[in-house]
Amino acid sequence: MKVYVDKPLCTGCQHCKDVCPVAVFEMKKRSAPEEVNTDTAPESAQWKGQSDPAVVEKWSKVEDGHKHFADENDGTSGGISVGVNGEACILCQACLIQCEGECIHIIDDTNTEYKSIYA
Ligand code: SF4
Ligand code: SF4
Repeated sequence: MKVYVDKPLCTGCQHCKDVCPVAVFEMKKRSAPEEVNTDTAPESAQWKGQSDPAVVEKWSKVEDGHKHFADENDGTSGGISVGVNGEACILCQACLIQCEGECIHIIDDTNTEYKSIYA
């Protein structure tokens, strides 16, 4: 399985990391693109220092107990999620329904792609 995050859409909510049973995701600093752009994301989904304005508009003022768009992770939220261990994915789909930015992509061995839809 290949797992990547469309980085400009990621709020840093950390829900993906919290629900994944096989530790596919790690949170990296927004100010360190060389660490953020290490999964299989295509060029268009890589981090270039700017979040998608529509996602910022939707989530920046939401107060739900965790940070949105913070540079650094504090153990509960912040940073950007990176699919560092996609090979371990068991396609349980838990992350796909928890992703605020609807930005997780999973591609299986038959090239079928699964995308997140926030529920
Ligand atoms: S679908 Fe894969 S990446 Fe997502 S939570 Fe399940 S095992 Fe982890
Ligand atoms: S759940 Fe989605 S928006 Fe939240 S940190 Fe993970 S990839 Fe980013």
